[in-house]
Parts: sequence; structure tokens; C-alpha cells
Amino acid sequence: MADVSEKIESIYQQVISRNPGENEFHQAVREVLECLSVVLAKYPEYADERIVERICEPERQIIFRVPWVDDSGTIQINRGFRVEFNSALGPYKGGLRFHPSVYLGIIKFLGFEQIFKNGLTGLPIGGGKGGSDFDPKGKSDMEIMRFCQSFMTELYRHLGEYTDVPAGDIGVGGREIGYLFGMYKRITNRYESGILTGKALSYGGSQVRTEATGYGTVFFVDEMLKAQGQTLEGKRVLVSGSGNVAIYATEKVHQLGGKVIACSDSNGVIVDDNGINLELMKQLKEIERRRLKDYLQYEKSARYVEKGNIWEVPCDVALPCATQNELNRKDAEVLVNNGCIAVAEGANMPTTPKGVKVFSDAKILFGPGKAANAGGVATSALEMQQNASRDSWSFEYTEQRLHQIMKNIHRDCYESADEFGEPGNYVMGANAAGFVRVADAMLAQGV
Ligand code: GLU
Repeated sequence: MADVSEKIESIYQQVISRNPGENEFHQAVREVLECLSVVLAKYPEYADERIVERICEPERQIIFRVPWVDDSGTIQINRGFRVEFNSALGPYKGGLRFHPSVYLGIIKFLGFEQIFKNGLTGLPIGGGKGGSDFDPKGKSDMEIMRFCQSFMTELYRHLGEYTDVPAGDIGVGGREIGYLFGMYKRITNRYESGILTGKALSYGGSQVRTEATGYGTVFFVDEMLKAQGQTLEGKRVLVSGSGNVAIYATEKVHQLGGKVIACSDSNGVIVDDNGINLELMKQLKEIERRRLKDYLQYEKSARYVEKGNIWEVPCDVALPCATQNELNRKDAEVLVNNGCIAVAEGANMPTTPKGVKVFSDAKILFGPGKAANAGGVATSALEMQQNASRDSWSFEYTEQRLHQIMKNIHRDCYESADEFGEPGNYVMGANAAGFVRVADAMLAQGV
């Protein structure tokens, strides 16, 4: 075992030196590798075949120029990325993120997480991720369209229903997917529904895809609570963020009898003790694309805390649904001291490693993103199934499939944590179960 731990540490050191400056990627790799010593000790064939070293190196990384013209006629240049990380289980699958913070290290962290997350869904999808440092904030509809068209002018040659299938992530929703799809069709003269997911229902999208990540996160936390003989009924819940994941996590918490009492955006926090008014949120954020602060104009009894910290609001359950590293050690301590009993990550890697340690030391329930937010990509795989069979399923049937997938992921993580000697540790369970699924496929397919 000591030997295996040393080997893992040396693999981690190699990842750092081969990928300098990519801090988020290092963090994501470290978290997975920390769980693998026991796995390699039990299954030495993974070490013999150097599966861990191979899994840490993307199969292909594409970086490209995205020139476009803004509304004032000025030429703008952004950088585009697609990292095709691992295809052992199926075509590369993972979203596109448009945000000014994007650089290769962010896309690689997300692509790396996606390998194990997609493995956990039990569906035939490999891991990939892409995006751009383009900032959609404040851009006109026509600017968004021109940017998406330019982005696809390079990306299209790498896509295919059997090759690589992007979807949305932060900054990429139904509108962007529509513009991207339209451009793919023009360039190729082929109506290939299966090259993108997250499409609108009017042209090959799936019911429940919009809701899936948020719903799935709540199904997951519900399963963690049920395993302890509890439910969401009457629980006070914090949901950070106010984008797609946060909105539909809020909807499902309310449907299951809990109450979301606060949400946030990058400028501040809304606290509404009556429960967040979801219809108002949808109107402000999805339709009018306004600031969260405007919530106060309509719900006078709510409070807005400029630059506030949502994790200081006392709660029973916390769902970080905004972005990476949004919940640190201090936040975790405040949550635990205020009596929070469960945390599930709707975003990717929102809790810092020190934050995760606080939760595990306090023995509260903690569902890591690669398990808890897998409902989005799982429903993307269901969209691919519908596209491949030229079919479309009802909302009820698709939601039932999503619910069952989240229950299976919970069960697999729970059992895998037991198998590797850390009962109740969902981080261990998710990393080990996701890794084993991908590693077995890699072993079978040779070097
Ligand atoms: N961006 C989502 C994720 O982080 C969904 C990806 C997809 O549907 O392909 O898993």
C-alpha cells in the first residue's frame, strides 16, 4: 500500500510538471488520485497497465482562433478550446463554457471530471469539454450569434455523433446551442441532430434536458438523506447561483417539500424567508436576462446583500450551483456550525479541497459534483438516444429515466465507498466507481 501511494504521488508530480500553471486541472487530478491508492492496491492490473498515467493525459487537445465582428464593426479575437479527454466508454461528451476565466487549465479540469462523471451515469459516453474566453455578458443577440458561428466554423470538423458531442455549460444555453447547430448544418449540409445536445424541443431536443442538472442534484441529495432515514420535507435549503442549474434545483426542492431560502449571483445574495419565488426568478434570469438584485422590486419582503456570502445564511442543506471553488474552508465551517447536514454540488468542483475536508471531518453528507450533477450529461445521453432512433419521449418518461439514473449513481457511490473501506464517503465512492468503469474499458481496448 505504501508503494502504491508513492506511485500515485509520483504520477501527480508528473501531471504538475507536464501541465504547468493549470491549477484547476491539478486540483481535479489530485482529488481523484487521492482516492486511488486503495483501488490500485486491490486491482494491481490498473497499475501494471499504467491506466492512471494514461487517463491523466487527454487523447487530443484543440486550440483555435475565433475572430468575430462586434456591433460597432470592430474585429474581436477570442480563443476556442476543445479537449477530447477520453473515449473508452463512448464518443467524447461534455459541455462548452463561454466565460472570461476560461483557459486551457479550466477546460482540462472540466474534461477530466467529465470522464468519471460520464462513467458514473452507466451510459456510453466518453469525456470531453470545450469553450472560450469569450464573455457573453452585455453582448447583443447578434454578437452572440456571430461569435457562435465563428466558433463552429472551426469546431465542426471535430464533431460527429460517433466522435464528439458538445452541449452547454456556463454561458452556453439553448440560444447558443441553436446558433451553433444552425452553423454546423450550413457548413456540412447535413441534418445531424446527434452532434450537439441541449437543443430546443422544436428541433430534436429532449424533454427535461433544461431541468436535468438541477433536478438530478436534488434527486441525489434526496437519496443521501433517505439513506439516513431523512427527507427534504421542511428543510431550509441554500442554492448558490441563479443560472440554469440553480433555477431547476430550486424547482425540484420545492416539489419535494423543501424550501429554498437564498440564491445568489456574482454581485450579491437574495434571502427570502418565504421561499424563493421561482416564477419571478425564471422571468428575470431566463427571459429578461436581468440582475438578481431586481428580485427586490417584486418581492418586497426579501433582502438583498450586496457582495454578501450566501453560506452565512443558516440552513439544513446547501447546494453550491454557481462555479468552481465558490465554497472554501471558512464557508464550510460556518455551514457546519450553523447545523447544515447535507451538501451536494450542482456545479463542477465548487468546494475547495479544504472545504471538502471540513465536511468529511464533521461527518456530514457530501455529494461531489461528478456524482451529484451528473443528471445533466445523463439526460444529454438520453437526447442522443432519441436522436439516434428519430424519436422523442414524454416529459414523464424522461424524468423517470433521469430519476432512476440518479438513484443508480447514488447506490454505486455508496457501495463503492463501502468496498474501498470508507463507508459514507461519497467522494471516495464516486472517484473509485467512476474510475473502475473507465479503467476496465481501457484495459479491454489495449494500449
Ligand atoms: N456541462 C454539463 C456538465 O458539466 C453537461 C454536459 C453535457 O450535457 O454534455 O456535465
